[in-house]
Amino acid sequence: MASALVWFRRDLRLADNPALQAALDAELAPIPVYLHAPHEEAPWEPGAASCAWLAKSLAVLSQDLASRGSRLVVRRCDSSLDALLQLQVETGAEAVFWNRLYEPALIARDSEIKSALRGQGVRADSFGAALLREPWEVETGQGEPYRVFTPFWKKLSAELGSVSVSDAPKRLPSVPDGIEGLDVSRGDPLELVPSPRWDKGFWERFEPGEAGADKQLKAFLDSAVSGYAEDRDFPAETGTSRLSPYLHFGEISPRQALATIQSAGLDADGDAKAFVRELGWREFSHHLLYHFPKSAEANFNSRMDPFEWAAPEKDKLEAWQRGRTGIPIVDAGMRELWATGWMHNRVRMIVASLLTKNLRYHWRHGADWFWDTLVDADLANNTQGWQWTAGTGADAAPYFRIFNPVTQAERFDPNGDYIRRWVPELAGLTGKALYAPWTAVDALRRMAPGYPSAPIVDLKHSREAALAAYQQSRVALAEKDT
Ligand SMILES: Cc1cc2nc3c(=O)[nH]c(=O)nc-3n(C[C@H](O)[C@H](O)[C@H](O)COP(=O)(O)OP(=O)(O)OC[C@H]3O[C@@H](n4cnc5c(N)ncnc54)[C@H](O)[C@@H]3O)c2cc1C
Repeated sequence: MASALVWFRRDLRLADNPALQAALDAELAPIPVYLHAPHEEAPWEPGAASCAWLAKSLAVLSQDLASRGSRLVVRRCDSSLDALLQLQVETGAEAVFWNRLYEPALIARDSEIKSALRGQGVRADSFGAALLREPWEVETGQGEPYRVFTPFWKKLSAELGSVSVSDAPKRLPSVPDGIEGLDVSRGDPLELVPSPRWDKGFWERFEPGEAGADKQLKAFLDSAVSGYAEDRDFPAETGTSRLSPYLHFGEISPRQALATIQSAGLDADGDAKAFVRELGWREFSHHLLYHFPKSAEANFNSRMDPFEWAAPEKDKLEAWQRGRTGIPIVDAGMRELWATGWMHNRVRMIVASLLTKNLRYHWRHGADWFWDTLVDADLANNTQGWQWTAGTGADAAPYFRIFNPVTQAERFDPNGDYIRRWVPELAGLTGKALYAPWTAVDALRRMAPGYPSAPIVDLKHSREAALAAYQQSRVALAEKDT
């Protein structure tokens, strides 16, 4: 039987996988391949937490393929193009199929690979698998990309209709023995697993792989989806799906999530709709990154370019990273991130506001830390999340909207459960002292002598300084405009 290489990247699933399906539809025996070439993603090579996740996800994919009679051929390589050409010669494959990625470096690499393969007479086709719509398929009436979420989502969601997805194949043809690869189902041949094992806490919360993604979606639809529109802002609750790493690695697709919602008859339900709208933000982030590829490095809104960011002080940046700012809700979030590789969205906004507004550090400092520590680190979503909070993004919260972390915590963690869980040394404090322990220094010293007795930055003064700096940048801009 003639064969096709199916090049897996961040589509680590067998169901609703258009590249795999294309091989089967063309009656070509799929030869599943994974190529490890992180330098090709520079400057955004996967961070440490992403690598830890990837190791587990590849092991699961490899077992899932083996249980169907196939095998994942894993190779470490200097050049994905060379590795594909080599594999094509070894296997005699007639075609190479893959699902698209949207980061600028990978679009450039994949385009080059497509032309080179076609130039050698090998069929090379790519497919959309990570999004509900390809970024170029959604455009304004003037044929432009969108810069504002609401009309973007109105247009996209109106076109969705009923979604159907393919099941995972039950059996797959075997891969010839002579085709060598690394065994990722045992050991760690790609050296992705951290040492020492600081990732252990991640796996109490997450089970990487397609089956884990399925379970996570089902658990969410069985319980947390009811009330999602309200509860999604309360970090002590399991009020959101926690599907973000699975979506990032393509262990589940947004189409699958939507198809499951539709077949459960939930598509008209307000809570499920609110959830699908969040998938819409993911679409919007990818739309922006695709159309404005420089936005991962530079302000999306160039009118913020004159803004003077402060030079980071090492000890303050480290205090933020390690959850030692002295501001309980911020410390709780940063510790949740460190322990589990994930942080609740509301708390992401609070910690990002403190960094970019009260400390006035450039959003890239925060984006870089998240990049290394999040299991769902995703260039499109992370860039958009940071630029949105920093006030530099498309359709962003304006810079002058500065979160007060104390009132945010009082509102969204009203019983203090989230703070107590992640900053247990403060568990004995109550009322205002729990949210702003510097207002009750005696109690703090008695109960949590190791916890900072003052925040790393005075919230009131830093807010005023940030607003003054913002005002100054507007004056500078106005002078430039005239
Ligand atoms: C500063 C900052 C950085 C962020 N970095 C990332 C990141 O690197 N990777 C990432 O996936 N998300 C990021 N987000 C967005 C959001 O916080 C996470 O997607 C969400 O918390 C994941 O939890 P969930 O799966 O339970 O979300 P749910 O509420 O269940 O939402 C379902 C899915 O929708 C998508 N989604 C939800 N909110 C957003 C959003 N605001 N923007 C884009 N997509 C969204 C995610 O894929 C998510 O899994 C960031 C947000 C901020 C404020």
